[in-house]
Amino acid sequence: MDFEKILGKCLEQSPNQEEALLLLQASRTPDKAIKIFAAACEVRDRELGRVFKLDSEIAPVAPCKIKPFCNYCTFSREVLTPEEVLEGLKLAEETGIADIRLSGGSDLTNDGSDVVELVRLVKANTTLRVHLNIGPVYSKENLVKLKELGVIEVGSSLETINPEVFKRTKPGDSLDLRIETARAINNTGLKLQSIIMAGLGSFEKDYIKHLFFLKELKNLSHLPISRFNPFKGTPMENRRRASPWEAARLCSVARLTLRTPDIRIAAGGGPDDIPLWLMAGGNRITSVFIHQEKCEPERFSGENPLHIRRNFIKNMEVVDRSSICRSFAEEAGFEVYPAQKQQQAAAPKI
Ligand code: SF4
Repeated sequence: MDFEKILGKCLEQSPNQEEALLLLQASRTPDKAIKIFAAACEVRDRELGRVFKLDSEIAPVAPCKIKPFCNYCTFSREVLTPEEVLEGLKLAEETGIADIRLSGGSDLTNDGSDVVELVRLVKANTTLRVHLNIGPVYSKENLVKLKELGVIEVGSSLETINPEVFKRTKPGDSLDLRIETARAINNTGLKLQSIIMAGLGSFEKDYIKHLFFLKELKNLSHLPISRFNPFKGTPMENRRRASPWEAARLCSVARLTLRTPDIRIAAGGGPDDIPLWLMAGGNRITSVFIHQEKCEPERFSGENPLHIRRNFIKNMEVVDRSSICRSFAEEAGFEVYPAQKQQQAAAPKI
Protein backbone atom coordinates (compact mmCIF):
# COMPACT_ATOMS: atom_id res chain seq x y z
CA MET A 1 0.00 0.00 0.00
CA ASP A 2 1.22 3.46 -0.92
CA PHE A 3 1.54 5.76 2.12
CA GLU A 4 1.04 9.02 0.16
CA LYS A 5 -1.99 7.62 -1.66
CA ILE A 6 -3.66 6.56 1.60
CA LEU A 7 -2.97 9.95 3.15
CA GLY A 8 -4.45 11.71 0.10
CA LYS A 9 -7.58 9.58 0.40
CA CYS A 10 -7.87 10.38 4.12
CA LEU A 11 -8.31 14.07 3.37
CA GLU A 12 -11.67 13.22 1.81
CA GLN A 13 -12.78 10.05 3.59
CA SER A 14 -11.89 7.71 6.46
CA PRO A 15 -9.22 5.05 5.88
CA ASN A 16 -10.26 1.42 6.04
CA GLN A 17 -8.97 -0.72 8.91
CA GLU A 18 -5.89 -1.92 7.03
CA GLU A 19 -4.98 1.61 5.93
CA ALA A 20 -5.50 3.02 9.43
CA LEU A 21 -3.13 0.40 10.86
CA LEU A 22 -0.54 1.25 8.25
CA LEU A 23 -0.81 4.95 9.16
CA LEU A 24 -0.48 4.24 12.87
CA GLN A 25 2.60 2.09 12.24
CA ALA A 26 4.08 4.70 9.88
CA SER A 27 3.59 7.41 12.51
CA ARG A 28 6.26 5.82 14.73
CA THR A 29 8.81 7.96 12.89
CA PRO A 30 8.55 11.76 12.99
CA ASP A 31 9.00 12.29 9.22
CA LYS A 32 5.86 10.25 8.47
CA ALA A 33 4.05 11.34 11.62
CA ILE A 34 4.26 15.01 10.65
CA LYS A 35 2.44 14.28 7.38
CA ILE A 36 -0.25 12.25 9.15
CA PHE A 37 -0.65 15.00 11.75
CA ALA A 38 -1.03 17.61 8.97
CA ALA A 39 -3.80 15.56 7.35
CA ALA A 40 -5.53 15.12 10.72
CA CYS A 41 -5.38 18.90 11.30
CA GLU A 42 -6.83 19.59 7.87
CA VAL A 43 -9.77 17.26 8.62
CA ARG A 44 -10.30 18.78 12.10
CA ASP A 45 -10.20 22.36 10.82
CA ARG A 46 -12.67 21.59 8.04
CA GLU A 47 -15.07 19.57 10.21
CA LEU A 48 -14.91 21.49 13.48
CA GLY A 49 -13.00 24.72 12.88
CA ARG A 50 -9.72 25.79 14.44
CA VAL A 51 -11.27 25.84 17.90
CA PHE A 52 -9.95 24.44 21.16
CA LYS A 53 -12.65 23.59 23.72
CA LEU A 54 -12.47 23.75 27.50
CA ASP A 55 -14.83 21.77 29.72
CA SER A 56 -15.14 21.03 33.44
CA GLU A 57 -15.64 18.01 35.68
CA ILE A 58 -17.10 17.35 39.10
CA ALA A 59 -16.18 14.08 40.83
CA PRO A 60 -16.82 11.63 42.32
CA VAL A 61 -20.59 11.87 42.25
CA ALA A 62 -21.13 8.10 42.58
CA PRO A 63 -19.15 5.36 44.36
CA CYS A 64 -17.17 2.73 42.51
CA LYS A 65 -18.40 -0.74 43.41
CA ILE A 66 -16.03 -2.62 41.10
CA LYS A 67 -14.22 -5.40 42.98
CA PRO A 68 -11.29 -5.54 42.80
CA PHE A 69 -10.61 -1.97 41.67
CA CYS A 70 -8.85 -1.48 38.36
CA ASN A 71 -5.12 -1.93 38.79
CA TYR A 72 -4.20 1.66 37.94
CA CYS A 73 -7.01 3.45 39.76
CA THR A 74 -6.64 6.11 42.43
CA PHE A 75 -10.22 7.34 42.31
CA SER A 76 -11.42 8.57 45.70
CA ARG A 77 -13.45 6.09 47.70
CA GLU A 78 -15.29 9.04 49.22
CA VAL A 79 -18.15 10.45 47.22
CA LEU A 80 -19.59 13.98 47.14
CA THR A 81 -23.01 14.26 48.74
CA PRO A 82 -25.87 15.67 46.60
CA GLU A 83 -25.55 18.94 48.59
CA GLU A 84 -21.84 19.09 47.77
CA VAL A 85 -22.57 18.40 44.12
CA LEU A 86 -24.92 21.42 44.08
CA GLU A 87 -22.29 23.53 45.84
CA GLY A 88 -19.75 22.31 43.27
CA LEU A 89 -22.03 23.32 40.40
CA LYS A 90 -22.05 26.90 41.69
CA LEU A 91 -18.24 26.84 41.84
CA ALA A 92 -18.16 25.48 38.29
CA GLU A 93 -20.51 28.20 37.06
CA GLU A 94 -18.18 30.84 38.53
CA THR A 95 -15.33 29.61 36.33
CA GLY A 96 -17.30 30.46 33.19
CA ILE A 97 -16.89 27.04 31.59
CA ALA A 98 -20.21 26.12 29.97
CA ASP A 99 -19.97 22.31 30.06
CA ILE A 100 -19.78 20.15 33.18
CA ARG A 101 -19.19 16.42 33.32
CA LEU A 102 -20.49 14.53 36.34
CA SER A 103 -17.99 11.73 36.89
CA GLY A 104 -18.26 8.75 39.17
CA GLY A 105 -17.34 5.15 39.69
CA SER A 106 -18.80 2.00 38.21
CA ASP A 107 -21.43 -0.42 39.40
CA LEU A 108 -22.22 -3.34 37.14
CA THR A 109 -25.34 -4.22 39.16
CA ASN A 110 -26.90 -0.73 38.92
CA ASP A 111 -29.31 0.22 36.11
CA GLY A 112 -28.62 3.95 36.33
CA SER A 113 -31.71 4.93 38.40
CA ASP A 114 -29.51 6.78 40.92
CA VAL A 115 -27.85 8.69 38.08
CA VAL A 116 -31.26 9.74 36.74
CA GLU A 117 -32.21 11.08 40.18
CA LEU A 118 -28.94 12.97 40.48
CA VAL A 119 -29.33 14.46 37.01
CA ARG A 120 -32.88 15.58 37.86
CA LEU A 121 -31.49 17.44 40.87
CA VAL A 122 -28.57 18.89 38.91
CA LYS A 123 -30.70 20.05 35.97
CA ALA A 124 -33.07 21.83 38.36
CA ASN A 125 -30.15 23.76 39.80
CA THR A 126 -27.88 24.71 36.91
CA THR A 127 -27.90 26.06 33.41
CA LEU A 128 -24.57 24.36 32.61
CA ARG A 129 -24.64 21.75 29.85
CA VAL A 130 -24.52 18.40 31.65
CA HIS A 131 -22.42 15.43 30.51
CA LEU A 132 -22.07 12.08 32.32
CA ASN A 133 -19.13 9.78 32.87
CA ILE A 134 -20.44 7.32 35.44
CA GLY A 135 -20.40 3.56 35.14
CA PRO A 136 -23.71 1.81 35.76
CA VAL A 137 -25.13 -0.57 33.17
CA TYR A 138 -27.94 1.78 32.12
CA SER A 139 -31.34 0.28 31.36
CA LYS A 140 -33.03 1.46 28.17
CA GLU A 141 -35.71 3.26 30.24
CA ASN A 142 -33.11 5.20 32.18
CA LEU A 143 -31.24 6.20 29.03
CA VAL A 144 -34.51 7.54 27.60
CA LYS A 145 -35.05 9.52 30.83
CA LEU A 146 -31.53 10.99 30.58
CA LYS A 147 -32.27 12.01 27.01
CA GLU A 148 -35.54 13.65 28.07
CA LEU A 149 -33.69 15.47 30.84
CA GLY A 150 -31.45 17.05 28.21
CA VAL A 151 -28.14 15.39 29.08
CA ILE A 152 -25.61 16.22 26.37
CA GLU A 153 -23.35 13.15 26.45
CA VAL A 154 -23.30 9.85 28.33
CA GLY A 155 -20.11 7.83 28.76
CA SER A 156 -19.27 4.16 28.54
CA SER A 157 -15.54 3.49 28.29
CA LEU A 158 -13.65 0.34 27.40
CA GLU A 159 -10.16 1.87 27.86
CA THR A 160 -8.90 -1.12 25.83
CA ILE A 161 -10.70 -3.46 23.46
CA ASN A 162 -8.12 -6.23 23.94
CA PRO A 163 -9.86 -8.78 26.24
CA GLU A 164 -6.60 -10.01 27.81
CA VAL A 165 -5.36 -6.51 28.58
CA PHE A 166 -8.80 -5.60 29.92
CA LYS A 167 -8.89 -8.65 32.20
CA ARG A 168 -5.34 -8.07 33.43
CA THR A 169 -5.80 -4.37 34.21
CA LYS A 170 -9.51 -4.19 35.02
CA PRO A 171 -10.24 -7.58 36.63
CA GLY A 172 -13.43 -6.42 38.37
CA ASP A 173 -14.95 -4.74 35.30
CA SER A 174 -16.67 -6.28 32.27
CA LEU A 175 -15.63 -5.51 28.70
CA ASP A 176 -18.86 -7.05 27.37
CA LEU A 177 -21.04 -4.83 29.57
CA ARG A 178 -19.04 -1.71 28.63
CA ILE A 179 -19.53 -2.52 24.93
CA GLU A 180 -23.23 -3.30 25.44
CA THR A 181 -23.72 -0.03 27.36
CA ALA A 182 -21.90 2.03 24.73
CA ARG A 183 -24.17 0.52 22.06
CA ALA A 184 -27.29 1.14 24.17
CA ILE A 185 -26.34 4.82 24.69
CA ASN A 186 -25.73 5.20 20.97
CA ASN A 187 -28.98 3.45 20.04
CA THR A 188 -31.03 5.70 22.34
CA GLY A 189 -29.86 8.66 20.28
CA LEU A 190 -27.80 10.12 23.11
CA LYS A 191 -24.35 11.44 22.31
CA LEU A 192 -21.67 9.04 23.46
CA GLN A 193 -18.28 9.64 25.05
CA SER A 194 -15.89 6.71 25.33
CA ILE A 195 -12.29 6.69 26.57
CA ILE A 196 -9.26 4.91 25.12
CA MET A 197 -6.25 4.68 27.41
CA ALA A 198 -2.83 4.86 25.73
CA GLY A 199 -0.08 2.80 27.33
CA LEU A 200 -2.30 0.34 29.21
CA GLY A 201 -0.87 -2.56 27.20
CA SER A 202 -2.93 -2.37 24.00
CA PHE A 203 -1.10 -3.07 20.73
CA GLU A 204 -1.39 -0.89 17.63
CA LYS A 205 -3.83 -3.38 16.09
CA ASP A 206 -5.98 -3.11 19.25
CA TYR A 207 -6.13 0.68 18.93
CA ILE A 208 -7.33 0.32 15.34
CA LYS A 209 -9.91 -2.34 16.24
CA HIS A 210 -11.10 -0.06 19.06
CA LEU A 211 -11.40 2.96 16.74
CA PHE A 212 -13.39 0.94 14.21
CA PHE A 213 -15.71 -0.33 16.96
CA LEU A 214 -16.32 3.33 17.93
CA LYS A 215 -16.77 4.30 14.28
CA GLU A 216 -19.84 2.01 14.12
CA LEU A 217 -21.46 4.12 16.85
CA LYS A 218 -22.80 7.05 14.87
CA ASN A 219 -23.58 9.16 17.95
CA LEU A 220 -20.01 9.12 19.25
CA SER A 221 -19.32 12.80 19.85
CA HIS A 222 -16.32 12.71 22.16
CA LEU A 223 -13.21 10.55 22.38
CA PRO A 224 -11.03 11.23 25.43
CA ILE A 225 -7.57 9.66 25.13
CA SER A 226 -5.93 9.15 28.51
CA ARG A 227 -2.24 8.42 29.11
CA PHE A 228 -1.42 5.67 31.54
CA ASN A 229 0.19 7.17 34.64
CA PRO A 230 1.52 4.82 37.33
CA PHE A 231 0.44 5.89 40.79
CA LYS A 232 2.24 4.77 43.91
CA GLY A 233 0.35 2.17 45.87
CA THR A 234 -1.56 0.79 42.87
CA PRO A 235 -0.79 -2.71 41.49
CA MET A 236 0.52 -1.07 38.29
CA GLU A 237 2.89 1.36 40.01
CA ASN A 238 5.94 -0.17 38.29
CA ARG A 239 4.62 0.11 34.75
CA ARG A 240 6.14 2.84 32.60
CA ARG A 241 4.16 6.03 32.04
CA ALA A 242 2.64 6.30 28.55
CA SER A 243 4.47 8.61 26.18
CA PRO A 244 2.76 11.75 24.86
CA TRP A 245 3.97 10.60 21.44
CA GLU A 246 1.89 7.39 21.62
CA ALA A 247 -1.20 9.41 22.62
CA ALA A 248 -0.66 12.00 19.88
CA ARG A 249 -0.16 9.36 17.18
CA LEU A 250 -3.36 7.65 18.29
CA CYS A 251 -5.12 11.04 18.27
CA SER A 252 -4.12 11.72 14.65
CA VAL A 253 -5.30 8.34 13.36
CA ALA A 254 -8.48 8.67 15.44
CA ARG A 255 -9.17 12.03 13.77
CA LEU A 256 -8.70 10.58 10.29
CA THR A 257 -10.89 7.57 11.12
CA LEU A 258 -13.70 9.16 13.15
CA ARG A 259 -13.63 12.69 11.62
CA THR A 260 -16.06 14.74 13.75
CA PRO A 261 -15.92 13.81 17.47
CA ASP A 262 -14.05 16.03 19.91
CA ILE A 263 -10.75 14.35 20.81
CA ARG A 264 -9.73 15.31 24.31
CA ILE A 265 -6.53 15.18 26.33
CA ALA A 266 -7.81 13.07 29.23
CA ALA A 267 -6.38 11.81 32.55
CA GLY A 268 -2.62 11.50 32.57
CA GLY A 269 -2.25 14.45 30.20
CA GLY A 270 -2.26 18.17 30.96
CA PRO A 271 -1.72 21.67 29.58
CA ASP A 272 1.84 20.84 28.45
CA ASP A 273 0.34 18.32 26.02
CA ILE A 274 -1.73 20.98 24.26
CA PRO A 275 0.72 22.00 21.46
CA LEU A 276 1.39 18.40 20.38
CA TRP A 277 -2.33 17.59 20.67
CA LEU A 278 -3.31 20.50 18.44
CA MET A 279 -0.68 19.39 15.90
CA ALA A 280 -2.15 15.87 15.92
CA GLY A 281 -5.76 16.91 15.24
CA GLY A 282 -7.10 17.05 18.83
CA ASN A 283 -9.36 19.84 20.07
CA ARG A 284 -10.39 19.61 23.73
CA ILE A 285 -9.21 19.47 27.36
CA THR A 286 -10.82 19.60 30.80
CA SER A 287 -9.56 22.81 32.40
CA VAL A 288 -11.63 22.88 35.60
CA PHE A 289 -11.86 20.06 38.14
CA ILE A 290 -14.08 20.18 41.19
CA HIS A 291 -13.55 17.16 43.30
CA GLN A 292 -13.72 15.63 46.72
CA GLU A 293 -10.60 16.96 48.43
CA LYS A 294 -9.00 13.52 48.82
CA CYS A 295 -9.55 12.66 45.16
CA GLU A 296 -6.23 12.07 43.39
CA PRO A 297 -4.24 14.52 45.57
CA GLU A 298 -1.09 14.02 43.45
CA ARG A 299 -2.76 14.44 40.11
CA PHE A 300 -2.00 18.14 39.64
CA SER A 301 1.17 18.31 41.72
CA GLY A 302 3.46 18.61 38.66
CA GLU A 303 1.64 21.70 37.39
CA ASN A 304 2.77 25.22 38.17
CA PRO A 305 0.81 26.39 41.22
CA LEU A 306 1.23 30.03 40.21
CA HIS A 307 -0.60 29.43 36.98
CA ILE A 308 -3.34 27.11 38.08
CA ARG A 309 -5.78 28.10 40.77
CA ARG A 310 -6.23 25.52 43.57
CA ASN A 311 -8.75 26.41 46.24
CA PHE A 312 -10.11 24.23 49.00
CA ILE A 313 -13.73 25.02 49.76
CA LYS A 314 -15.37 22.92 52.46
CA ASN A 315 -14.91 19.30 51.42
CA MET A 316 -13.93 20.16 47.86
CA GLU A 317 -10.99 21.32 45.84
CA VAL A 318 -11.36 23.55 42.77
CA VAL A 319 -8.52 23.25 40.27
CA ASP A 320 -8.81 25.84 37.51
CA ARG A 321 -6.14 25.77 34.81
CA SER A 322 -8.28 27.52 32.16
CA SER A 323 -5.94 30.47 31.87
CA ILE A 324 -2.86 28.41 31.01
CA CYS A 325 -4.82 26.06 28.71
CA ARG A 326 -6.29 29.08 26.94
CA SER A 327 -2.95 30.81 26.43
CA PHE A 328 -1.20 27.65 25.15
CA ALA A 329 -3.94 27.15 22.54
CA GLU A 330 -4.12 30.82 21.54
CA GLU A 331 -0.35 30.94 21.09
CA ALA A 332 -0.77 28.11 18.58
CA GLY A 333 -3.33 30.18 16.64
CA PHE A 334 -6.53 28.60 17.96
CA GLU A 335 -9.76 30.22 19.06
CA VAL A 336 -10.77 28.97 22.50
CA TYR A 337 -14.32 28.06 23.56
CA PRO A 338 -15.72 29.51 25.74
CA ALA A 339 -14.31 32.87 24.68
CA GLN A 340 -12.44 34.73 27.41
CA LYS A 341 -15.11 37.44 27.71
CA GLN A 342 -17.78 34.78 28.34
CA GLN A 343 -15.55 33.25 30.99
CA GLN A 344 -14.85 36.64 32.60
CA ALA A 345 -18.56 37.54 32.62
CA ALA A 346 -19.29 34.41 34.69
CA ALA A 347 -16.51 35.06 37.22
CA PRO A 348 -17.65 36.48 40.58
CA LYS A 349 -17.12 40.24 40.97
CA ILE A 350 -14.82 40.94 43.90
S1 SF4 B 1 -14.15 1.48 37.23
FE1 SF4 B 1 -13.18 3.51 37.22
S2 SF4 B 1 -13.38 4.27 39.32
FE2 SF4 B 1 -13.78 2.06 39.37
S3 SF4 B 1 -11.83 1.09 39.89
FE3 SF4 B 1 -12.00 1.14 37.63
S4 SF4 B 1 -10.99 3.06 36.99
FE4 SF4 B 1 -11.41 3.19 39.19
